[in-house]
Amino acid sequence: MRIVMIGSGYVGLVSGACLADFGHQVVCIDKDESKISRLREGKIPIYEPGLEDLVARNVAAGRLSFSTDLAQPVWDADCVFIAVGTPARRGDGHADLSYVHAAAAEIAPWLTGFTVVVTKSTVPVGTGDEVERILRDANPKADVAVASNPEFLREGAAIEDFKRPDRIVIGIEDDRARPVLEEVYRPLYLNQSPILFTGRRTSELIKYAANAFLAMKITFINEVAELCERVGADVQEVARGIGLDNRIGRKFLHAGPGYGGSCFPKDTLALVKTAEDAGAPIRLIETTVAVNDTRKRAMGRKIIAACGGSVRGKTIAVLGLTFKPNTDDMRDAPALAIIQALEDGGATVRAYDPEGMEAAKSMLPTVAFASSPYDAAEGASAAVIVTEWDAFRALDLRRLRGLMVGDALVDLRNIYQTEAVEAAGFVHTSVGRGLQP
Ligand code: NAD
Repeated sequence: MRIVMIGSGYVGLVSGACLADFGHQVVCIDKDESKISRLREGKIPIYEPGLEDLVARNVAAGRLSFSTDLAQPVWDADCVFIAVGTPARRGDGHADLSYVHAAAAEIAPWLTGFTVVVTKSTVPVGTGDEVERILRDANPKADVAVASNPEFLREGAAIEDFKRPDRIVIGIEDDRARPVLEEVYRPLYLNQSPILFTGRRTSELIKYAANAFLAMKITFINEVAELCERVGADVQEVARGIGLDNRIGRKFLHAGPGYGGSCFPKDTLALVKTAEDAGAPIRLIETTVAVNDTRKRAMGRKIIAACGGSVRGKTIAVLGLTFKPNTDDMRDAPALAIIQALEDGGATVRAYDPEGMEAAKSMLPTVAFASSPYDAAEGASAAVIVTEWDAFRALDLRRLRGLMVGDALVDLRNIYQTEAVEAAGFVHTSVGRGLQP
């Protein structure tokens, strides 16, 4: 198959490289010239484990290439994926579809022969109809089928997720798209990954319903964590106790500082807006969004409380900035709101993250960036674990404590046991572990 991927970000680049690895001929397109020139030099613009090797291998095999010019690749293509960003629109929280619409308009003139155009971006119900209208208006002669194929990969485990997905969802309105997409995903089909063919609108909604459900599950356990703290229960044991029930499942039951990242915040909000507009409001998700928004700042207050009620004039070491480990993605990371709350309280923040500091620098201009967790802790009143990077799981706690002027360790991911932390001379604050009244 000759495949074009429009947008070479976290999703487009991983998907393009994996599809090339399946044996397809893939051209990844991006408007960002610096991104494409770096890719052509073999440099990967994002941090994603395994991606550099995968890209290098497929470029060397002649199956993967990069371009800023989509004309010839689209002309040659059997299948064109749109994997551009769909951020929340400023002001109203609806998904901003301007990049998707622009990509469709750019593709349209170059479509020749039968081509399947697929939205891989997360897009609200009805976007496929609009993409089809844009293509047909711009190029009435185009022989095109527009499909929806939402992506479920997780940053940090993206290649594994793409190659061994729980399921592949494909929404089509024109049956001619089916064999083309079956061929695109044939290696996964042989792997027995379930492929679910649905209508286009259903497929679009599946993605939002999935993300909203997961965000709701996280928010549920976060609220249970609050309750645990008040009543002397342990949220990790509650999570295990309910998660072992197969109807509930153990995943996404880790209490923490609130969900963040490039998907859940914007996708929950967009679903709320879609549902409102359709006259079928989803109140559970409205509440999820509201609860999660307040939680991040509440974590700031939790840290301030651990510092004796004030952080004015104090230094706080923040360990972990990205919204989760194994990515450099800083979009909507809880660390941003937490740091804001600390700075509002008069603190100076010294931060360390294994991969996220480059992206964080422009977002956090007043933060001092450290070269290690120990460097961040120098002179700090409190050390706060915001992201559960492996590098933070086996810290030399005595050394850390020895570098600090205060004794607070705030563990927002519950990666340490209180006994170990106290043995190193810290006062431990964790999430959802209440003291017996
Ligand atoms: P991203 O911002 O990392 O990448 C988007 C890329 O598209 C950018 O490099 C941008 O320059 C490029 N672009 C924009 N308009 C273009 C155009 N007209 N032509 C060529 N390139 C163009 O975004 P992402 O994280 O990869 O997300 C892409 C989509 O996938 C979003 O809808 C997102 O919701 C969805 N998604 C993301 C994830 C994730 O974990 N990041 C997971 C599943 C789904």
